[in-house]
Amino acid sequence: MRPTGSLHIGHYVGALENWVSLQDDYQNFHLIADYHTLTTSLDTTNVYKDSVDMVIDWIACGIDPVKSPIFRQSKVKQHTELHLIFSMLITKNRLEKNPTLKEQIRDLNLQGVSYGHLGYPVLQSADILLYKGNAVPVGEDQVPHVEITRHIAEHFNQAFELNGKKIFPIPEPKITKFARLPGLDGKAKMSKSLGNGILLSDPEDEIKSKMKKAFTDPAKLRKGDPGNPNICLVYLYHQKFNPEEEPEIRNGCTTGTLGCFDCKMKCAGKIAEHFAPAREKRAELEANIGRVVEIMEDGENRARAAAEQTMSEVREAMRFG
Ligand code: AMP
Repeated sequence: MRPTGSLHIGHYVGALENWVSLQDDYQNFHLIADYHTLTTSLDTTNVYKDSVDMVIDWIACGIDPVKSPIFRQSKVKQHTELHLIFSMLITKNRLEKNPTLKEQIRDLNLQGVSYGHLGYPVLQSADILLYKGNAVPVGEDQVPHVEITRHIAEHFNQAFELNGKKIFPIPEPKITKFARLPGLDGKAKMSKSLGNGILLSDPEDEIKSKMKKAFTDPAKLRKGDPGNPNICLVYLYHQKFNPEEEPEIRNGCTTGTLGCFDCKMKCAGKIAEHFAPAREKRAELEANIGRVVEIMEDGENRARAAAEQTMSEVREAMRFG
């Protein structure tokens, strides 16, 4: 994840929750993609603070840094080395077809794209393959990047081998049921840059106030009017955060007995309840930033050791050893 400020519930349902559930069965590597922030902004004033903040969100939501290292990309120089090599294994044409890049150009109204921004899936391929990742738990927007990673891994394996063995696995994306959570405004994706999200750190009052503006069926104007839950964003959030009451909510909406305001407040309450333990844990960690910094440093050392092992194989296979 890029450290671009507080995480929203889209990050959680699309990726973070999945990381937590996979950490018992996999050796996870949790990367703070700080170099990747440069693709859309050269203002690095808050990048360190945002990184620490993001780590707090991860741990508060259940990531165990002892099981799986948490580390900054910029502290493991092997990422840049592998990125350079990988950049020779993919064409500019292939990168220009990346649908996520096209989406970013549209959403952020970008007038031009830097060489690094065009190539950011190549850096991401290095992020994944340095740790010989075979499963990549990401949201839907990242799936094209995993495709590019597969292409690069295959290309590398065809060109180079070490003692008759291929170095890289061909990774698979692992997506969740909510791999693209829409924003409160009904836009296709909840996103920090679109300002349409509920933050993991938002207190209940804030969630309620944001939820008041959430997009619902425009034909349901007042309580009593029947609504269509299939086009209602709040109903989608209920599916995730209030599954026990989902049939009752659906029935109340379609028959008109449940008004949108009550439905929204119930949903906001459930979201606040879901994240209450994380908010508590967050407050504890905020009071002990020194511990968070230690966790990152420990993760950086562990990640660097794994990355160097892969790079020494790569250099040897490529006769740069
Ligand atoms: P980013 O902030 O773009 O680095 O995203 C970090 C991770 O969260 C990626 O795996 C994204 O696909 C995922 N993600 C971000 N926004 C959403 C969303 N609205 N719905 C689902 N997943 C998301």
